[in-house]
Amino acid sequence: MNLSKVRMVLIATSHAGNIGAAARAMKNMGLERLYLVAPRDFPSEEALVRASGATDVLQQAVVCDSLAEALQGVGVVYGSSARQRTLAWPEVDVRGCAVQVSEVSLQDEVAIVFGRERIGLTNEELQLCHTLLHIPTNPDYSSLNVASAVQVVAYELRMAFLSSESAPVVEPVVADALARAEEMAHFYTHLEQTLVELEFLDPKNPRQLMPRLQRFFHRSQPTQLELGMLRGILSAALKKKKA
Ligand code: SAH
Repeated sequence: MNLSKVRMVLIATSHAGNIGAAARAMKNMGLERLYLVAPRDFPSEEALVRASGATDVLQQAVVCDSLAEALQGVGVVYGSSARQRTLAWPEVDVRGCAVQVSEVSLQDEVAIVFGRERIGLTNEELQLCHTLLHIPTNPDYSSLNVASAVQVVAYELRMAFLSSESAPVVEPVVADALARAEEMAHFYTHLEQTLVELEFLDPKNPRQLMPRLQRFFHRSQPTQLELGMLRGILSAALKKKKA
């Protein structure tokens, strides 16, 4: 586990106090990289007060306009969600997520995304996440305060970090690097354009085609080399169509 490769991304947080509490929860567990996407009220006095001694985490927080911007340079993205979604998405519980992050963070950047207090993550944001992360709760009352959710995730990451510290060191297998989040996003744009060109996808009636394809590609975790091949196939199909 390399905790310095993990960023916590909070989307459009309404209450500055939650940002402060999240910073504190992170620092307690040895995490430092906080990203804030369009926070409503930041920087703020309330955030500083709730951060207690974690003002350094707040001061270093990176403020972004969009989730895509906050994910630049990231390899694997987890979306933390209280809700069951209509479209099934790969899902892992928080403990399983921490175990996965323990491996992935040895080679790559990881983002864990937290939604708005009232409405969580939008579907567009969800689609930028490779896997959903769920904290098991009372099914009749499943939504935690966002800073509490950050606390639970940060704690599980710390526990995974501690067990990785005591485990014998195994060198990560050197393999092709996984495609990064922004490369996946470019691939989806290319795929969608191609499918429209080929008249397989009707932009007036797209149904759930793109989200379903995205789910499939997220699940298979293509490497950069594999994504390059897929994009080559798309370009060849487009060239043939236009010829
Ligand atoms: N009503 C919103 C809840 C938002 S709670 C919804 O239905 O999504 C604010 C954020 O805290 C969520 O977007 C999620 O990132 C996190 N969160 C809250 N409860 C959670 C849980 N049980 N598991 C995982 N994340 C949770």
